[in-house]
Amino acid sequence: MKSCGVSLTTAAVAFGDEAKKMAAGKASRESEEESLSLTVEEREALGGMDSRLFGFVRLHEDGARTKTLLGKAVRCYESLILKAEGKVESDFFCQLGHFNLLLEDYSKALSAYQRYYSLQADYWKNAAFLYGLGLVYFYYNAFHWAIKAFQDVLYVDPSFCRAKEIHLRLGLMFKVNTDYKSSLKHFQLALIDCNPCTLSSAEIQFHIAHLYETQRKYHSAKEAYEQLLQTENLPAQVKATVLQQLGWMHHNMDLVGDKATKESYAIQYLQKSLEADPNSGQSWYFLGRCYSSIGKVQDAFISYRQSIDKSEASADTWCSIGVLYQQQNQPMDALQAYICAVQLDHGHAAAWMDLGTLYESCSQPQDAIKCYLNAARSKRCGNTSTLAARIKFLQAQLCNLPQSSLQNKTKLLPSIEEAWSLPIPAELTSRQGAMNTAQQNGSDNWNGGQSLSHHPVQQVYSFCLTPQKLQHLEQLRANRDNLNPAQKHQLEQLESQFVLMQQMRHKEVAQGLHKSQSSCLSGPNEEQPLFSTGSAQYHQATSTGIKKSNEHLTLPSNSVPQGDADSHLSSHTATSGGQQGIMFTKESKPSKNRSLVPETSRHTGDTSNGCADVKGLSNHVHQLIADAVSSPNHGDSPNLLIADNPQLSALLIGKASGNVGTGTCDKVNNIHPAVHTKTDHSVASSPSSAISTATPSPKSTEQRSINSVTSLNSPHSGLHTVNGEGLENSQSSTKVDLPLVSHRSTSQIIPSMSVSICPSSTEVLKACRNLGKNGLSNSCILLDKCPPPRPPTSPYPPLPKDKLNPPTPSIYLENKRDAFFPPLHQFCTNPKNPVTVIRGLAGALKLDLGLFSTKTLVEANNEHMVEVRTQLLQPADENWDPTGTKKIWRCESNRSHTTIAKYAQYQASSFQESLREENEKRTQHKDHSDNESTSSENSGRRRKGPFKTIKFGTNIDLSDNKKWKLQLHELTKLPAFARVVSAGNLLSHVGHTILGMNTVQLYMKVPGSRTPGHQENNNFCSVNINIGPGDCEWFVVPEDYWGVLNDFCEKNNLNFLMSSWWPNLEDLYEANVPVYRFIQRPGDLVWINAGTVHWVQAVGWCNNIAWNVGPLTACQYKLAVERYEWNKLKSVKSPVPMVHLSWNMARNIKVSDPKLFEMIKYCLLKILKQCQTLREALVAAGKEVIWHGRTNDEPAHYCSICEVEVFNLLFVTNESNTQKTYIVHCQDCARKTSRSLENFVVLEQYKMEDLIQVYDQFTLALSLSSSS
Ligand SMILES: [Zn+2]
Repeated sequence: MKSCGVSLTTAAVAFGDEAKKMAAGKASRESEEESLSLTVEEREALGGMDSRLFGFVRLHEDGARTKTLLGKAVRCYESLILKAEGKVESDFFCQLGHFNLLLEDYSKALSAYQRYYSLQADYWKNAAFLYGLGLVYFYYNAFHWAIKAFQDVLYVDPSFCRAKEIHLRLGLMFKVNTDYKSSLKHFQLALIDCNPCTLSSAEIQFHIAHLYETQRKYHSAKEAYEQLLQTENLPAQVKATVLQQLGWMHHNMDLVGDKATKESYAIQYLQKSLEADPNSGQSWYFLGRCYSSIGKVQDAFISYRQSIDKSEASADTWCSIGVLYQQQNQPMDALQAYICAVQLDHGHAAAWMDLGTLYESCSQPQDAIKCYLNAARSKRCGNTSTLAARIKFLQAQLCNLPQSSLQNKTKLLPSIEEAWSLPIPAELTSRQGAMNTAQQNGSDNWNGGQSLSHHPVQQVYSFCLTPQKLQHLEQLRANRDNLNPAQKHQLEQLESQFVLMQQMRHKEVAQGLHKSQSSCLSGPNEEQPLFSTGSAQYHQATSTGIKKSNEHLTLPSNSVPQGDADSHLSSHTATSGGQQGIMFTKESKPSKNRSLVPETSRHTGDTSNGCADVKGLSNHVHQLIADAVSSPNHGDSPNLLIADNPQLSALLIGKASGNVGTGTCDKVNNIHPAVHTKTDHSVASSPSSAISTATPSPKSTEQRSINSVTSLNSPHSGLHTVNGEGLENSQSSTKVDLPLVSHRSTSQIIPSMSVSICPSSTEVLKACRNLGKNGLSNSCILLDKCPPPRPPTSPYPPLPKDKLNPPTPSIYLENKRDAFFPPLHQFCTNPKNPVTVIRGLAGALKLDLGLFSTKTLVEANNEHMVEVRTQLLQPADENWDPTGTKKIWRCESNRSHTTIAKYAQYQASSFQESLREENEKRTQHKDHSDNESTSSENSGRRRKGPFKTIKFGTNIDLSDNKKWKLQLHELTKLPAFARVVSAGNLLSHVGHTILGMNTVQLYMKVPGSRTPGHQENNNFCSVNINIGPGDCEWFVVPEDYWGVLNDFCEKNNLNFLMSSWWPNLEDLYEANVPVYRFIQRPGDLVWINAGTVHWVQAVGWCNNIAWNVGPLTACQYKLAVERYEWNKLKSVKSPVPMVHLSWNMARNIKVSDPKLFEMIKYCLLKILKQCQTLREALVAAGKEVIWHGRTNDEPAHYCSICEVEVFNLLFVTNESNTQKTYIVHCQDCARKTSRSLENFVVLEQYKMEDLIQVYDQFTLALSLSSSS
């Protein structure tokens, strides 16, 4: 890798040359250039500065000189580029990118980096560049790109000095993307690393605990939090946040005892949290909620009051205050509090709902309807259907009343319009205001509703029409011809107000102002100015899927609905309409409208005199992290227990200075809180029931969990398409190469080279030695021809639509001879056939499939373990969200375990139940044959879902030859190429068991059991036989389309390798992806070729058996190695140890296919180099390499930390070496925990001479039969 010091020198030299040229031409400018040139000392100082210093240099106080220097350097470079008309060396741009990054000028950093990227073909060798680029993307919340850049860094340089920062950020981004497995892995990788980092390990541990909580693993979360509290010298901010989380979790979850116990725990935790940080408005608010729930009204009021004093006004707090007032029978006060809530957050569905019930209780149904309508329009409304029913009911009621009775009635409460125009108390607008008020009025304003009106009106609202007014306007417009004079006057007024509002809005937009506080100006939908940008919610994000017309993708919040709110989920999705809450913009492709524009209002520091100039860089990192963590949450995440709240963010920024308030926390009041969570007793969630009794619904908000909230940077979180100046001013703004363009990488991982090129081992080692002496790192040599792998782009030209449902290659067998006919093997392994169905195989071979029938399995091993996946029974080939509202890709299922006997029972009873249902249907059908048309109509109109749950018995391990002797023996009747064990099967050369790959697995199914989409481990082939009695349906996509499916997964926030997903066939059709689709009957064998993507569902009740096979072909080997590298990039373990396997192949197999031979030889060469270089480096550093050797069946080794394969040189902790437990590390992970390896011994498993010999003796065999 090029060090950036070198690039700077080059640049500086270039500068000198250019300057001379320019000077010759334009002497008049000479003096100016003089002042712009860098001194030798300055160049030296700049030489070591690149992206790796980000977060570790201070730019203020003592660092002011650094800042001045960087600024000067930037000006020098810019002027040079200008003079040279951009014709400078590419390194120049890279360095300029670094300087701008360090100065936190992100837009300029981005454009400089982009120039470098476009000029430097092997940009990927430059880890500092990739890292800087990743940081810039991270800043802009362009997580998709940031993840790619960071993964590239770790791929090209696993020992990168800022690996810890990268893992931390990857952990945060994956958390936001709901990829919790990956998130946890990266947090753990960050945690073991003892290098310096911008977060402390306590903070990283906090994230891990919080990750559990986000996943609703409350007990693990509790444990992790409590463990964290035991830490010595735990920073106060961390402590406060941990206690706050624990308190709120206890309030919401049934973690301990009865209600009284859990509330008392909750209160204790929150009080302790306030001891650690008395200024947390959030903790006060939570405390108020706890008091309120146990009926301690006075304490609740006091806590809410404190909350409003301590933090910015929050809609949630006001809503809760409203509930308290309503409980106390103070409707006017309740009204004012709710109005405060909805004015702070126009989309606060729960407050609208509560306000509606309040009006209903005061017999003002017209106002109630308006409130309910607003609640229903909110994106965060959880229960639109019941709400709609309620609205309908009230409207019907109104129609039946004589007009006069409504008009003449004296109203208990002011109408919603009147209430809305009451001025907003200053308390809402600032903390200061609240304090003033408190001083002036004492506690009066807590009781006297009218006192609120003394306070000044917040400016911004005067330009807004209330939703009610807009509604009213619409109604008046619609009835324009039938209005009475008073109504006409009203219409005129409203029209002019509307025009004014529009003008104001346009003006605002034109000025590029983002009024974060005023949601009426920032709503995404002009037609509904009331509802501000909400944010994505969990289900919505998954179901929104990809809208071709819209480049914006919503990210799911990392919040997960909690606990007893489960049943509520269904209604949440019901409300999610189209795109909303664009929190982050994921650009799926380079786009002209680059939205990676710095958002000027992001934090005050962006203004020239702002605090960013003052703040240390590292502060900034904290802030970014806080933003990243919290941003997805503000919004709707419904029942989020914890949600990253302001305090959490404060925690993250905690180290930073007193700038906390100006950075992120002051945005707290922009919170878009969760709507309600708990369903029980919650009027909010089931308005009709509560409303019908016409009682107020004091509990409605009470049950909500609000905490989700944080929207620290809510107005700023997205990639705003604000007309930011930054990019326009920067030079390369029009150039929009996103550096991470995918391209086919096949030949790069294993370059095709002719045999003659393969050097002998002596030459290789000689070369290594020289390289080693030059001080180049081990990874550097490997980089020779190996850029980070990329998924393939969609094959071009796209297939015509009529070719998208190709017939499945099928072969019908009649007898045993057919099965052993050699061309069958060739047909199956031909890369042109992604899948082959061998029909009638069991019959032709007289296989006794009865051995795998449920009955026999129970007789053989009834206590054997079965993994159970609880799934939703979905309609045929579709995958819907749990409410049946939207087709989605995500298809998570819960995992549990049972025994064969118990599953068999379930399978049988499921069958009988279905028989019974069938019979019932038949009788019903007879009875109601007259009504047939109506009933079918009804069923057609019926919404999908809710779905029945089913259980799928999966991954049953049949590897034990003693337990499953008969069964396994029966399978030896198969033709060699399909057998579990054979000489021509690569997996038989691994030398140890890889469960489910070179051993048999059994699947027990009921109709609808689904195996989600996947490629086999390391792209190996697979064999699957249906035992019957029912059928299975298969969906198959050729290997070269996996990149397209990978994209779909990313767009749906799914991890292609790790998540469970069920492709939407319509999406695939749109994207011109061919899908093979066929039925596998009992006795049919399905051969899945290398790399083929597939997903399967059971049509009937059946069992299947399956295993993997590795045919000895160039295609199989290539795809396996490609996936091995891709897994490494993605931090996913490769079940097949390809390095270990390659050496075994060289020892055991004669290869006559030149292509396959070349690839194996090349891989051996790489490994040989690697071993040699590493060994020499260790010895040179005085580290002893201890001979350890290996036993015959010893499995391949994997790093216990990062799970990469470790070959030959094992880094084992001293302790585990003494105990002979041998916990293996890779070199990089070992060095992360112990920089100079003092805690490790290095064990060597192969003699270099042996490896050299194997390498040299591995030669191309004469072309006989290579594979048998
Ligand atoms: Zn490792």
